[in-house]
Amino acid sequence: MSRTNLCPCGTGRPYAQCCEVFHSGAREAPDAESLMRSRYTGFALKKVDYLWRTLHRAHADRAATQAEGLAAIRYAADGYRYMGLTVLDREAPDAKGVARVLFHAKMFQKGRDVSFVECSDFAHDGEGWRYLAGSPVLMRDLRAPLAGLTIARFRDRPQPT
Ligand SMILES: [Zn+2]
Repeated sequence: MSRTNLCPCGTGRPYAQCCEVFHSGAREAPDAESLMRSRYTGFALKKVDYLWRTLHRAHADRAATQAEGLAAIRYAADGYRYMGLTVLDREAPDAKGVARVLFHAKMFQKGRDVSFVECSDFAHDGEGWRYLAGSPVLMRDLRAPLAGLTIARFRDRPQPT
């Protein structure tokens, strides 16, 4: 198997046996982590319609029209190089049905390292898991070691004063 067939989401599986089944619409991602991984791969492979479809209705970006939303997603997919994903921690759905995934995304923009850590919220909309909310924290702003980072440590990290 050539490395280029490996799914960008970092599972070590070929794309055809990993995120492609979600991108093609054959299946919905079974949990928040799979959905998150498939969205990272979606950016890497410019699956713009999939990224829009898996954005929860309540996500802030849904306030835009679909045309604006798709344009913004296309800009993000085109403007960055997606160099790798590491899922650091996850939380099962809480009482409100919100599941969380903490991840480190390796990214470059015009040769500049813009890698970040994000703790994303996901919710099921009756059809499938959807991306609800999340804000990237650039590595230089993280103020916590990446090694051993958990959702609890991420929440408790020192904040800029
Ligand atoms: Zn994958």
